[in-house]
Formats: sequence, C-alpha cells, structure tokens
Amino acid sequence: MQPFLDNAKRYIRELAEETAQANDLDLSYCVIEYRDHPPQDRSFVVKNRGFGDDKQLQSDLDALRAEGGGDDPEAMYDAVIEAAVLTYRPGADRIALLVADSPPHNPCLCGLNPLKVIDACAKANVILNACSIAGSKITESAMRELTDALGGYTTTVQSAKAAVEYTSDTFLKTAGDVGRARAYYSAAVSLGVSDDFAGATAVAAKLGWDEKTAAESAIYLRRRGTMAPAKKK
Ligand SMILES: [Zn+2]
Repeated sequence: MQPFLDNAKRYIRELAEETAQANDLDLSYCVIEYRDHPPQDRSFVVKNRGFGDDKQLQSDLDALRAEGGGDDPEAMYDAVIEAAVLTYRPGADRIALLVADSPPHNPCLCGLNPLKVIDACAKANVILNACSIAGSKITESAMRELTDALGGYTTTVQSAKAAVEYTSDTFLKTAGDVGRARAYYSAAVSLGVSDDFAGATAVAAKLGWDEKTAAESAIYLRRRGTMAPAKKK
C-alpha cells in the first residue's frame, strides 16, 4: 500500500480540486484507515478521520502509513461498514471508494460478513467502488461482491500509479454521475414526468442526451434513494 499512498499524497488534492470545479460540486472527504483485529494487529482496527475539505484530505492522507495488519486478510469489512454510520450533510450523495491490496477476513474476526456490510451500506444509500492493487482473485471477488450490491464497480490494477489513475477516473466519473443526475432530476421535475425510467425519453429529448445516458442517470437516482414525487398531479 505504501507506493499507492505516496502517489495519492502527491496527486489527490489537485485531483479533488479538478473534480469539484469540473462539475460545480461542493465536496467533503473522509479518510477511513483500517488494519486488523488483535492478535493480528494491536494498534487499531478502524480509524475514521472525519469529514473535511480538500486541505484536510491532504493532511489526513499525509498522516497515513502502510504498516501493521499482521497476516494477509485484513479488517476490510469494518472499514466499509464505517461508511454507513458517518454523519453526512442532508441530501448529500454518499460515494465510498475502497482501495486495498489484501482480502477481508470472511467472516471477520468480529463477526462481520458481506451481507451485514451490504445491508448497512444499502440502508445508508452508500454507493461503493473498489480498487484492488495487484490483489489476489480472492480480494477482487470479495470487493466485487460488495460493489455489485452497492451500485459501483471493482477494478484490479497492477501498480500504485495505475491505482491513482483509477482513483482519479473514479472521482471524475462519479462527479459526472452526480452532475448528470442533478440535471436529470431538474429536467424531470420541469417536464412533470417521473424521474425513473418512465421519464427517460422525455428527459433525454429535453437535455439533448442519448437515451442510454438518461437511463443511467435514472438508475443513479434510484440507487441514491431519493426518488422525487413521481408524476405531476
Ligand atoms: Zn472485524
């Protein structure tokens, strides 16, 4: 993980600024660090550094060092479920990005398992993407189990540099999704159509989008759990 952290520290702030500006978004970041349960690791299991702006993101990343964890599997589920209990701003889109090079304990030493993590995150409307850095098939499939259920994707990359590029792409793609969903929602409201698939054709025509883009935004809105009042009365 250390080469990834070194690269991330160098580029993350620039990336965060670019993402926010390109999509006119007000972003908050929260770094969640995890290791493992005793006796594998006696330092900490999860360290949640709280939400802050891009300056705090940079200083939180600067404080990270890849160490500890004991054996190969780590307390990944403890970290992901933390995303379900954060205090978000009202109406905020909740996007989590998991980056790891080791698989989770399954079940975890504390009893957490994928179903419990998925259930908690789905109820909290957390969208999860994941990146495995040269991880095993076990790591990748454990990540995919979570991201398939939580509206995101899992990617495996082979280098720290590729992981930072992936992080960048995911930031930008996610910001684009949020921006388009917002436009979709406004258009659906102004047209007096439903903001789910039923309105996709009308919204696509109004915004000059192709129908696939419109349908993807409808899916995003549905996952986000903020379907608007459907039809005009
Ligand atoms: Zn655990």
